[in-house]
This record gives sequence, structure tokens and C-alpha cells, in this order.
Amino acid sequence: MSAKRDYYEVLGVSKTDSADTIKSQYRKLALKFHPDRNKSPEAGEHFKEISEAYAVLADSEKRKIYDQYGHAGVDGRYSREDIFQGARTNFDDVFSNFGSGGFDSIFENLFGRTGGFGGFARQKGQDILYDTNITLDDVFHGKRIDIDIRKNIDCDACKGSGCAPGTRPETCSTCRGQGQVRMTRNMGFSTFVTVQPCSKCHGEGQTISKPCSSCKGTGKTKGTKHVSFDIPPGIDNGDYVISGEGESIPHGPNGDLIVRIRVKPHQFFKRDGADIFYDAKISIVDACIGKTIEVPTLEKNEKVKVEEGTQPNTIIKLKGKGLQNVDSRGRGDQYVRLVVDIPSKLSKHQRELLEKLKETFD
Ligand SMILES: [Zn+2]
Ligand SMILES: [Zn+2]
Repeated sequence: MSAKRDYYEVLGVSKTDSADTIKSQYRKLALKFHPDRNKSPEAGEHFKEISEAYAVLADSEKRKIYDQYGHAGVDGRYSREDIFQGARTNFDDVFSNFGSGGFDSIFENLFGRTGGFGGFARQKGQDILYDTNITLDDVFHGKRIDIDIRKNIDCDACKGSGCAPGTRPETCSTCRGQGQVRMTRNMGFSTFVTVQPCSKCHGEGQTISKPCSSCKGTGKTKGTKHVSFDIPPGIDNGDYVISGEGESIPHGPNGDLIVRIRVKPHQFFKRDGADIFYDAKISIVDACIGKTIEVPTLEKNEKVKVEEGTQPNTIIKLKGKGLQNVDSRGRGDQYVRLVVDIPSKLSKHQRELLEKLKETFD
């Protein structure tokens, strides 16, 4: 594929031109290259190119990003659908007295019904929500999740085709396999185009004359689907979406499976992102004269040196002893807070010793 051309160049405008100038220039080009008017083979591609340029430059925010960072800046932030849907009113503005239908029908035939915009919304299977609790240890190591979901699955008798054994679906005679019906009305000098899903085949483009007796032609039966996947180390509470593993329906795409992950609180570790927090108790004597103590980490016990004269709540960092960072290499840290444990009760002997010690401070 050739490199993307500069949007200003595509529209034949300059960087300093106003939004109005850009709009009228796009209008001029759209009239010339709209595939309903221009039957040359390149017209469709060219219409897409100028429309994308206009979609970006007509939106002051996207134009600013484009001016600053170029194509990479825009493409990195917006999907193709965002770009066009975001400019919907700008397009409607241009096409309002253009003679053709509005935004939807214009983009329908350019990007097709799977293009996302202009396409009629096909009914989709329901999303399935699955709750799962994992431990901090699972977060540390990562975990394989195995789930059995009750849902519609492909009918075993017809392997999901919906056809009786030995038969096949036929091309729909109404839409000739297109799945959609395009209606064109002439209104004066212009043409009004609407596109609708074919009602005979529900947009499938195929019909079944001898339906499967097990599933009555739907291709679906109730069953259990096993789904397994690995959650990466370092993950936090949140929804994990497995697209297409939700409920399935005849004549439409599957829903999504949403796995809601909750990390159970740990007995003594607290977490913030990839960092782990741990409170270690030390005695007043250890705080005064120092000691090497052992503290647990996610892997094993680590030796930590408590310095002589340690103040309460001193924090010691164990570098790289936290959780895996989900979105980058490396690990977080573990922070050990030294909590000085002041005894609430003393033995007689301890009291005597402290009394003696007290004299040395007076
Ligand atoms: Zn049809
Ligand atoms: Zn069947």
C-alpha cells in the first residue's frame, strides 16, 4: 500500500485555511467523486480518501492533533470508525442539500455493512458475565481460567448450518446473496438511496429450504461450551473481555464473554498496582540496637537489616520484589514498614531493667 497522503494536499487546501474553506472544498470534491455520480473505478477510493481527510480536518480537535503529530497522531488515537462517526454532523451538513441520502446511506455503500458505520445494526447475542475471584498468588504467577458456560452452541446434527442432512443453504433470491436491499428513488435531479437488511434472509444472504429437524433450522442448540484462557501475571480487578464467546443467536454475531476478575484481599500483603506493602513488627529494643529480620515476599522470605536507632514507621524498599507490571517489563517493589511494637504489658524484670535504663537518660 502506498503511503498515506497529506490530508491538506488531498483536499487541495492549505494549513491556514478556515473550517469553512475546507468544508466548501470538500463539498466540491464530494460532488465530483461521489460514486453515485462518478462511475469511474477510482472514484470510490478517491471519495474515501477525501472523506477521511475532511472527517479529520473538520474536527478542530483532530485537526490540532494532525497538525502536531501527523497521521501517526490521529491513527494512534482514533479508530476509523471514531474518525467518521465523530464527523457525522459535519458530513450531514455537507450532504443536507446534496440530493443523496444522509451520512448513513452514503457511507453504507462505501464501507459495506460490516464497516461499522452506515451499516444497519445486526442483532447480536447477549454478553455473558462470569465472576471469578483469584488470589494475590494467582496474580503473581498468572493463572489459567477454565470455564464451562451454558449457552447456545452449534447444533450437532447440522453442524450449525441449520440445513437438513444432505442439503445446503441457497442463495437468497430476494437480495441475490447480498444480505441487503438497496432502494433507489429519483427525486428531481438527485438520487435518494437507502439500504436495508433483507427481510427474507435476515441479512444472511442465504435461505434454508429444508431445515434441520433437531434445531428447526436455527443451527443452534443449548449446550455447554468450555472456554479456557490464561490471565497474565500482574493483572488487577477488572473485566476481561473474550470477544465472540458470549451467547450466540441465529442470524447475528455472538455476544462477548465478560470475565469479571476480583482479587481477594491478602492476609498481610496490600497492593497498589505492581507494588506490595507489608508491615513488619519490631520490638523497641530491636529499633534501638538494630537486628536482621526476615520478612515474607511473594516468593520467599528475605533478610532485612534493621539499623540501630530505627525510627517508627521507617520504610525499607525491596527493589523488584513486587508484582509483574502488566503493561511493561519488570516488576514493582515491595515496601516494608517497620512498626515498632510497644509492649502493653511488662514483666517485673523488664520493668526493672527499663527503670535502670531510664536513669541513664535523666
Ligand atoms: Zn436476502
Ligand atoms: Zn440443526
